[in-house]
Amino acid sequence: MQPRQNIEFTDHDITGRKGIRKTNFLSDIHIDAAYVLLRNLRDSIGGMYNCRFGEEAKFPKAEGDKWMQIIHNGSNHWILATKGFFKEKKQVPLQTVEVFDSCANKELTNNFSTCSIASLLRTEDESFYIDYLNCQQQKNDYDCGVFAIAFATCLLMGQNPLKKTFRQSELRAHLKKCLIDRELTMFPNDDAKFPTVSVLRNEYVEVHCYCRRPAFRNRTRKLEKMLVCKACSYQFHPTCENDKICFDKKGNFTCSMCLQKQNKEDREKKELLKNIGKKIVFDDSD
Ligand SMILES: [Zn+2]
Ligand SMILES: [Zn+2]
Repeated sequence: MQPRQNIEFTDHDITGRKGIRKTNFLSDIHIDAAYVLLRNLRDSIGGMYNCRFGEEAKFPKAEGDKWMQIIHNGSNHWILATKGFFKEKKQVPLQTVEVFDSCANKELTNNFSTCSIASLLRTEDESFYIDYLNCQQQKNDYDCGVFAIAFATCLLMGQNPLKKTFRQSELRAHLKKCLIDRELTMFPNDDAKFPTVSVLRNEYVEVHCYCRRPAFRNRTRKLEKMLVCKACSYQFHPTCENDKICFDKKGNFTCSMCLQKQNKEDREKKELLKNIGKKIVFDDSD
């Protein structure tokens, strides 16, 4: 399966037992169904990968200057991460990802969503920023997925979700109708005043490793110990080095990139030594 391959869904997935009911949390089946319609709206926007590609807080790099992805935080919360839809007034030297989080006040985003965002950005710099936008906040515990789809639809239609107040009580019925009709239209809203503060808070993220993600936090919120290469001093996730992990007798770690370089140098040295050991015979053929 390709990351942007459309996943077939039936009306039963929307209206059946596991469908979209009054107060349930949207599942990855519903979000993937919405992606089919979101990609139909504007296929040129990068990201929009099927949910299962983010299960390990790792997505493929998002293509293009503009991309978006609805991201699960690993514990019952959906947010929308976007890049390239806003211009910054002040030029910040680092890349910035803008996040629409309908629970931004509660700070439900965590290291899992941060790692997912980093994997989409895959910056060559050593850090980046996440701006949490001052978007509409949900007034219940279960509408985050619906809001993420409403924000995404609005952006793909070329409009600014920060200037909208969505009618929360009408959003679910609208989403269900769109999915049954197989076409997304703007979610019911009233124009709102543009918020004076457009960024609620931001996060500075340092990234490492081949995957360009930060260190992981495990379930007890302890930071995973990164491997530090003794040759290049860069940090790597043990899971990204997996079976290739190389420690010397003293327990020092060498990353696979440096190891490859070392092996090449060793081979060249051996070739040289081979020449040194060669017997030579005086050429008296003249
Ligand atoms: Zn890694
Ligand atoms: Zn190294």
